[in-house]
Amino acid sequence: MTDNKEETIVALATPNGIGAIGVIRLSGPDAITIAQRVWKGKDLTKQASHTLHFGRIVDGDIELDEVVASLFVAPRSYTRENVVEISCHGSNYIIESIIKLLIKNGARAAKAGEFTLRAFLNGQLDLSQAEAVADLIASNSKASQQIALQQLRGGFSNQLQQLREQLVQFASLIELELDFAEEDVEFANRDQLKKLTHEITRVIGSLIQSFELGNAIKNGVNTVIAGRPNAGKSTLLNALLNEERAIVSHIPGTTRDTIEEVLNIQGINFRLIDTAGIREATDTIEQIGVQRTMEKISQSALLIYVYDAEQITLANLNSDIESLQKPGITMLLVANKADLLNQEQLLALPHTDKAIIVSAKEKRHIDKLKNKIYTAAIKEQLSGHETLVTNIRHLEALQKTEEALIRVLSGIDTVTSDFLSMDIKQALHYLGEITGVVTTDDLLENIFSKFCIGK
Ligand code: GDP
Repeated sequence: MTDNKEETIVALATPNGIGAIGVIRLSGPDAITIAQRVWKGKDLTKQASHTLHFGRIVDGDIELDEVVASLFVAPRSYTRENVVEISCHGSNYIIESIIKLLIKNGARAAKAGEFTLRAFLNGQLDLSQAEAVADLIASNSKASQQIALQQLRGGFSNQLQQLREQLVQFASLIELELDFAEEDVEFANRDQLKKLTHEITRVIGSLIQSFELGNAIKNGVNTVIAGRPNAGKSTLLNALLNEERAIVSHIPGTTRDTIEEVLNIQGINFRLIDTAGIREATDTIEQIGVQRTMEKISQSALLIYVYDAEQITLANLNSDIESLQKPGITMLLVANKADLLNQEQLLALPHTDKAIIVSAKEKRHIDKLKNKIYTAAIKEQLSGHETLVTNIRHLEALQKTEEALIRVLSGIDTVTSDFLSMDIKQALHYLGEITGVVTTDDLLENIFSKFCIGK
């Protein structure tokens, strides 16, 4: 992505549309002098960094608006360039006129993500931090905001950077061996290299694993509601959504197909899928439904197994639990129809330590269930992960790093230095892609074009 840093760029930093104020951002070597050309007030070129100034924006004799200009003198700004932020009144007409005027006076309209691109190119942020800026802007829950903020603070990149540096040392030692190829020397201690490679592979593996949760927080948790016909799945779905979405009926097996709804708990989206009954189906349409249930379960992170606490036998309950338990899926047991049982029967229910006892019909303990859903899918999974990978680009680079590291490990004792060196270089390349030590124009274009203009 080519970016001529000699140019001063301008864009609206606040959303389009009418607002109390709009903030127009200028960044580049001439930001302050260009602002001064359209400015009536104190001489901006003579003011200190991090100061605010009241003044008027004028186009010759025509006054456009009364504004406040915030001044950031290079390198103490987001982009490390001179930056002026003009807070004007938030009318589309005023904003457009001021931007046009600034362009007439030497600025150029900024492209999507160009301010952050400059922050990256000028060393203010590394690539994963720049991406965290986009994530932070898009975050819609406490959890996603926290992850983005941690990434922005560099937690993720620091960890990788340290590992990368250690590997670079080995790479250079092995390069050195290549220079002395005829003398059959070994500068890079193979045992140490093995230890380091194992350590890096372990960290990378844990980061790769964290993607599932990171992705869940960012994009939602696939959650399936399963249980025998008439257990109350549809009623429970309605109670959770507090609406009448799924059709409730007395005839077993009416939920022929799957219904998908989104439930938001503490800012996390749970994609709830209500499925046809899991019982052996006799009619073919339902059979397809049953098959689909099993497929949906295998694609989900969370399974809410609902059963009729009054009707189900212990044997059926246990066999359902056993057949639904899959690795990688968290299961919640929900004993439904508690309203049909008296206190004594409730106390005698099986699995009382694990099961959440509710009445979907009477909407009893639904909030408790929501809390459990959140805890099981997010809170309990968070412990043990200091850093979460949420970005698919990072995941792919980590996976490629892992593959290269596995090649390094399997070749350490057998292959010649030149092959080993190649695999290490590959691992370094992919690790570098994450933080931006290694970049290509395509990669930058791809990342920054997804930003909004003005960021
Ligand atoms: P599904 O086949 O699992 O989706 O079950 P439905 O949600 O269609 O419910 C089957 C029947 O059980 C309907 O008549 C519901 O009204 C009834 N039902 C569901 N939940 C409860 C509950 O908590 N208490 C009582 N008494 N009946 C319920």
